[in-house]
Amino acid sequence: MSFNYFTNWCFLPTFLGTFRMYDTGDENIRMISADDINRLKTPPLIRVHSSCIASEIFKSIDCDCADQLLTAMQIIHDENSGLIFHLNQEGRGQGLQNKIKAINLMQQKGLDTYEAFEYLNLKQDVRNYQKVIDILSNLNINKIRLITNNPKKISFFEDNNISIDIIKTKIVTRPQNIDYLRTKKNKLGHKLDLSNDSCLKGLDENINCIKFYEKDHPYGFFSNFSNHAVYLKNKIWKTSEHYYQSQKFADTDYEEEIRKAPKPSMAKDMAEKSSFPIRSDWKSIKISTMREVLYAKFTQHPDLRKELIKTDPSILIEHTENDHYWGDGGNGSGKNMLGNLLMDIRSLLIQ
Ligand SMILES: [Zn+2]
Repeated sequence: MSFNYFTNWCFLPTFLGTFRMYDTGDENIRMISADDINRLKTPPLIRVHSSCIASEIFKSIDCDCADQLLTAMQIIHDENSGLIFHLNQEGRGQGLQNKIKAINLMQQKGLDTYEAFEYLNLKQDVRNYQKVIDILSNLNINKIRLITNNPKKISFFEDNNISIDIIKTKIVTRPQNIDYLRTKKNKLGHKLDLSNDSCLKGLDENINCIKFYEKDHPYGFFSNFSNHAVYLKNKIWKTSEHYYQSQKFADTDYEEEIRKAPKPSMAKDMAEKSSFPIRSDWKSIKISTMREVLYAKFTQHPDLRKELIKTDPSILIEHTENDHYWGDGGNGSGKNMLGNLLMDIRSLLIQ
């Protein structure tokens, strides 16, 4: 292979490790590699990634694009070999203007991404990978291991005489992106393993799910009622439930009264049956408050930290009919926000 074609490059230090970024001669095609491209393995690991400025730059959480890019970076970094092409083609190739129109329809009219494209008379996917094919052929590469879940991308390369081994990516699901991922799977043909979904609905017994709820049962330490105190706001809170409930009344005397409740169930009752008004911004901060206290709990107790990390990669589910928001609603119809936050914190601690 000849790589003389790419003489302009620099190191790219990232929190995943150091990569190299190459000038492809085209501002719309960015290319990074895990190591010197002269040392690519055969067949090389390749990710052909279309840009999504919403998630990649502005950190939006309602799609999986940035997650996929990071996963691909992780995969090629682990192997210390491989290329990622980052192509400037927003909105499945229809451009940012159309993408904004489509997302607006999804938000205002409740359409899914497929229906929104239909509504706008847009073809579902007009992404083009020809320039990547050109670069690969310049490098004399005709067989690759492609990191993708998208069958259309696979056929495009195969139609251009590049043979493919598929490397599937693990999907990161969140309450905010699950509907989008379901549409990608069901209407756009992406091969997605929505383990979280299957797990929640009990569809796939091969996926390892850990269900928790009662504090005296296995994995009871995931319950906010478990007897693990946390230290936050310069005070000790008997359980994470105490902290979470009291923050509905942060900086009032009632916050302190709840902190002193003898049991977590009492802290909960006091908050739920209170005649004091809950702080007006509670809806917008309740997730971050829960995250804050869970992070404290699982970093301030080394044994819990270890137990949480040990559960990777199982799906964590708060299994209860009593809660459709923090829990799974008993039948998978709930959002499982507590399980999701715990898995988020787990991946942070593993890093
Ligand atoms: Zn995206």
